[in-house]
Formats: sequence, C-alpha cells, structure tokens
Amino acid sequence: MAKSYSCVLCNKTHLTVNNRRTIINEKLRDYLARTLKRNVENATVCLKCRAQVYRDMKTVMNSPQIRQGIATCQSNDDEDPDFLAEETLPSELFSPKSIQLNLSSTSKSHRRCTVCQKNSSNRHRQVVVPHEARTQAFIEKCIVIPANSRCCPNHLLGNYFTQESISKIPEVNSTTLFNRSDITELLNRVRGTLTLNVKLNFDCSHSLSEEDYQRLTGLTRNQFEAVANTVTDLRKSEIRSVKTCLAILLVKLRTGLSNIKKKMWYDCQ
Ligand SMILES: [Zn+2]
Ligand SMILES: [Zn+2]
Repeated sequence: MAKSYSCVLCNKTHLTVNNRRTIINEKLRDYLARTLKRNVENATVCLKCRAQVYRDMKTVMNSPQIRQGIATCQSNDDEDPDFLAEETLPSELFSPKSIQLNLSSTSKSHRRCTVCQKNSSNRHRQVVVPHEARTQAFIEKCIVIPANSRCCPNHLLGNYFTQESISKIPEVNSTTLFNRSDITELLNRVRGTLTLNVKLNFDCSHSLSEEDYQRLTGLTRNQFEAVANTVTDLRKSEIRSVKTCLAILLVKLRTGLSNIKKKMWYDCQ
C-alpha cells in the first residue's frame, strides 16, 4: 500500500504530491518544532498550512514588540558583552502563552466549527474565521476566538458573523491563555474597529444602535440582517459590501436624498 502523507498541523490525511511539502526549510522546521514541541524532521505539511505559517512568521517578525526587541538588543549590546541579539528573537517569537485572563474563549480545534461545533469534512468545507468576525465576537460577547479557528461559511455575512451565529457561539473555556503578541493583536483589532466605527458601518452590526437602524433604514436590525442575507446580486465592490449597498438603497428610498447629498452626508459621519 502506498504511504499516506498527513499534515503535521491540520492532520489532514492522504495529501497528494501537489498538496504537500516535506519540511526542509530550516526556519519553517524550527518554527513548527517550537510550536508543536516535537521533532518535525522529514514530516509533511499541506500547502494551506505552510502558507499560513509563513504568513504568521512574517506577522510576528513585523510586530512592534519584535521590532522593539531588536532595537533593545542593539542598544544593550554595548553594556552587556554576552548579550546575543539573535538569541532574543526566538524567545520573543515564541513568547509562551503564560498570561491567564478571565476571558472565555472558543475551542482551539481547527477541525470543528467555532459556532455549531460540526466537524469539517469534504462535504462541509470550513473557512478561517476572519479577524473582523473574531473582533466582533469579542466586542459583542466578550469571547475570544483563537486565530485560525474555522467555521462553516453560512455563519458569516462578508467578514462578520450573522446575529444569529454570534448568539450561538459556545464558550468552551472560561479563561484564556495569552502571550504578549496575542494581547497586542487583540488591542489593535479592537482599536481598528473603533476607528472604523467613527463612520456609519452597517457591516458590523454592533456599531449602530437599534434606533439607528430604524431611523436610517426603516428596518429593525434583525430585519436588515434578514434582507441582507437574501440579497445575492447588489453592486458590491472591494470598498462597498452588500450591507453598505443595501443601507444606501434603503436610506435613499426612505429619505429621498440625492446621491451627491448622500455622499456628503456619509462622508460627514
Ligand atoms: Zn495542513
Ligand atoms: Zn458551523
């Protein structure tokens, strides 16, 4: 029988030649060995996980703490002759998850849906929960969804959870372990959302009150969600989501504001 290759990260089995790589790259090997706390020599990884790991490695290297770490190393160089700049990097990179906070979180499993707990399979393909949705869950439910968690695509509308899904997300752990970069990342995501919400944002439903919805669109938040869920063909673009298009249409119908006035009005918000 032919040997079956599986991915060290997602445990996907029967990887084809085109969908697997033997872990040869030294940086990748070290990173995975440290993350998984085992030897990964000659192990295989699927292309999706490999791409994700490279992205993670890049993010960690570009994070402000690492940059600061590098800067600190350089400034400490003269005072401490035994100080090795390179040695500081790995420990910063893999700063242990030792900060326990009383914040509930979802399961760390990458194979089960964060919302309905269904297992992923060929028939039920799951997607990585977008960071916008993770931030939404934290703001609305105070629940932490670990990076790279998966969910069924139907729980999402664009990059956010639907209101129904968000109410279903189960709290699996009552406390969460963080490392320093996790906390910085969380704060940055929340900051990002707050800056976004300076403008009217129909994509993230918590940014507008029930009253805002009714005043602007004539619909309740749930009605708006329901309509948005059924819309398949609106002129959406990179910068304008289905919900934004729908909101503009409804506001226009309700107020009779011309496009130009409306643009001025949206820009003023
Ligand atoms: Zn994989
Ligand atoms: Zn699901």
